[in-house]
Amino acid sequence: MDDGQSVLCPSARCKEGSQLLGVRQDDGTVAILPTPLPIDAGFIQTVSASKLKPEQRFRFTNKCVKDGCRQWNGEGCSVADRVIQYLDKVDASSSLPKCSIRPQCRWFLQRGGDACKMCVFVITEITEEEVAQVAQRET
Ligand code: SF4
Repeated sequence: MDDGQSVLCPSARCKEGSQLLGVRQDDGTVAILPTPLPIDAGFIQTVSASKLKPEQRFRFTNKCVKDGCRQWNGEGCSVADRVIQYLDKVDASSSLPKCSIRPQCRWFLQRGGDACKMCVFVITEITEEEVAQVAQRET
């Protein structure tokens, strides 16, 4: 699957060509949309006008650009590797979000279902410390 063309980043920027993948909830987790929604210039303009960056309120997906991204470590996505560190803080029996990009998702291809269990805790514009805090609240 990793042909370098069709693999998708599940934590992309809010920009033309991206699709809406998730919406941050009041508890800090992200509700992953079963199917990503296209976004247009009007949406980008509207959500960019808010005090909070779009990437603090939403998750977007777009093509994985591999070494065109600062998160690429030469072999894979460093974000997927880092969030897995907090796997022991979430319910191991939790079901995976319904997510139509799974066959193409960089994180899933790299870390399997474990990445999906942590995915709902990832905010694109957030520190790792905050990720751990949100995950901790689940225990
Ligand atoms: S990590 Fe899993 S739930 Fe998150 S976007 Fe990828 S396939 Fe979907």
